[in-house]
Amino acid sequence: MEKHMAVCPYCGAGCKMNLVVENGKVIDAEGLPGITNEGELCLKGLYGYDFVNDTKILTPRIYHPMIRRTKGAPLERVTWDEALDFTAERLRAIIEESGPEAVMLTGSSRGAGNEANFVMQKFTRACLGTNNIDNCARTCHAASVIGLMECVGSGAMSVSIPTLEETDCILLFGYNPAASHPIVARRIVKAKERGAELIVCDPRIIESARIADLYLPLKNGSNLALLNAFAYTIIDEELADFDFIDDHTTGFDEWWEVVQDYAPEDVEEVTGLSSEVIRQAARCYATAETAIIGWGMGVTQQAQGVQTVRAIAALALITGHIGRPNSGLAPVRGQNNVQGSCDMGMWPSLYPGYQRVDDPAARAKFAAAWGVPQERLSLAPGWKLTDLPHGVAEGKIRAFYNFGEDPLQTEPDTAQVRAALEGLDLLISQDIFMTQTTALADVVLPATSWAEHDAVYTASDRSFQLTTAALPPKGECRHDWEIFADLSTRMGYPMKYQNTREIWDEVRSLCPQFAGATYEKMAGTGYAQWPIFADAADDPANNGTPELYAGGAFTTPDGKGHLMAAHWQPPTERPDNAYPLVLCTVREVGHYSCRSMTGNCKALAALADEPGYVSMSLADADARGIEEEQLVWVTSRRGKVLARAAVDERVNDGAVYMTYQWWIGKCNELTLHVVDGESGTPEDKYSACEVELI
Ligand code: SF4
Repeated sequence: MEKHMAVCPYCGAGCKMNLVVENGKVIDAEGLPGITNEGELCLKGLYGYDFVNDTKILTPRIYHPMIRRTKGAPLERVTWDEALDFTAERLRAIIEESGPEAVMLTGSSRGAGNEANFVMQKFTRACLGTNNIDNCARTCHAASVIGLMECVGSGAMSVSIPTLEETDCILLFGYNPAASHPIVARRIVKAKERGAELIVCDPRIIESARIADLYLPLKNGSNLALLNAFAYTIIDEELADFDFIDDHTTGFDEWWEVVQDYAPEDVEEVTGLSSEVIRQAARCYATAETAIIGWGMGVTQQAQGVQTVRAIAALALITGHIGRPNSGLAPVRGQNNVQGSCDMGMWPSLYPGYQRVDDPAARAKFAAAWGVPQERLSLAPGWKLTDLPHGVAEGKIRAFYNFGEDPLQTEPDTAQVRAALEGLDLLISQDIFMTQTTALADVVLPATSWAEHDAVYTASDRSFQLTTAALPPKGECRHDWEIFADLSTRMGYPMKYQNTREIWDEVRSLCPQFAGATYEKMAGTGYAQWPIFADAADDPANNGTPELYAGGAFTTPDGKGHLMAAHWQPPTERPDNAYPLVLCTVREVGHYSCRSMTGNCKALAALADEPGYVSMSLADADARGIEEEQLVWVTSRRGKVLARAAVDERVNDGAVYMTYQWWIGKCNELTLHVVDGESGTPEDKYSACEVELI
């Protein structure tokens, strides 16, 4: 029996564990005392290793490369040489005919690791000559990245996950930690036990709402009105830290020009909340000694996502609850390495380390390091992932390289996504499972899974941690970084790496704020939290920066926090007579992303079966004669899906909740493809729908 140290692949909490291996199979997972989990694991961490043992519950694992020689032909098994030569030839032909901007790529924020993503973006930029590279953050926290970079300087969490336990007040806004990050939820419970105040703003009575000191069940789609009303109250009742505002922020007058219209008494109808409870919550947050705001996709997956993130940042800036110990901002990332994908430059406007592609100095630096002429690296930001449907429809995107994601399951308006994928001249999919997207591909490239490779992951709180291979690659599977390097070499830009450490050292050499994060520092249960500069490399006591912006030193170009406000606007597709309910997407605690991994784990697959459920209130169910467990149709202007009714007293009237994780009952058949104009993040939290008995 052997034990191999790993990082859980199922959420941004970054829990450390040992995988116990016997006779070539993983037989157990044991929690280790990592920085975020201190020995604990949730059910996904404990039972989510099963797919590694070749279970075939949901989707088959892919063990050899395949190509589809012509559209409509079946996939056929080929050698790696054939698959990569075919891919290189097809990509080269498309670039010759339509230019590099006709190729779009998306990285993997799941088990793939920072090294693989770094090599993919290098291939995209140095070999293909485009910045058309993105990652699933586009669908989740892109609004946080953009809003926070403007307001405070970095799109990442300013605090550490353990800090949640030390603060005096936690404000959760559009974030359900019990379903998304159970170990973070444990920290919040412990904070509450220690005496912290807990405020929860969510239309649904989520688990954290049950233990909250103040629960604000705001109406779906009213986030920005409520946040502006909090800010109004803090100024109106003179609860702000005016010294902090004077010393460390800019833009107060313009900001107040907007916020002054949001007296709590004036937003009662929009939010569905009494002015008194709004004022009470604002007082509670503002007067706490220390406070943290945590948010999730309830904030970002809205058409005003970026503006809402700015409003959250403004609350911290006007109260001084940032840049001080145990206070700050916590946009908690969902997929286990989505922070890492962004760190590695899987972003159409950013190189690794958040260096801008339109900055000539950054371009010169990367061109020199990668041995290409500067003109090879484009100064123009590339396509966003959510541009894919219209990019294909307009003939501007002809090839799509999908790395470890399943957009046909996870992106809004499935019919539109399917039309885009089918309309491509070339779809390449590199994955471990035959997902719905991979099944449509012209080239299928089998990769190693999380338990079969070494990699650095970045947890949601900027902690780099090392995961190590428990098993050798299966079948003909290859490491992701090897596949990209081999393809790049065949396309005329040679890349040769011996191992992941060599790649990571290149990352450290190009990104000063990651330079101190050596493999040695991350060995065992070690970690390195960026920014961590080169001088930390040989200092065992220096693990980086647990909290950003100490003393109000923001990392914006002028060093100030920027106050920015916008007026609330109603969501795009309002309920009407035909579709009178609001459909909101949520997460199932036992499953992860498109379910290809967790759906192939016996214990997790047994938690729930298809069709997926639609949660609805007792009143809405009664009005339609629907009872618990009955099969229903859920319809919208985009489609119709079968689902099982879950009549739930925690659900607010007028709204229903579904996950995108089921094949039967997939809510993305119904969701609206409207995006935030600034971030490109879809408005997944608000589509009009109806539910009817079958
Ligand atoms: Fe894994 Fe997240 Fe659960 Fe930790 S909280 S064990 S990282 S799924």
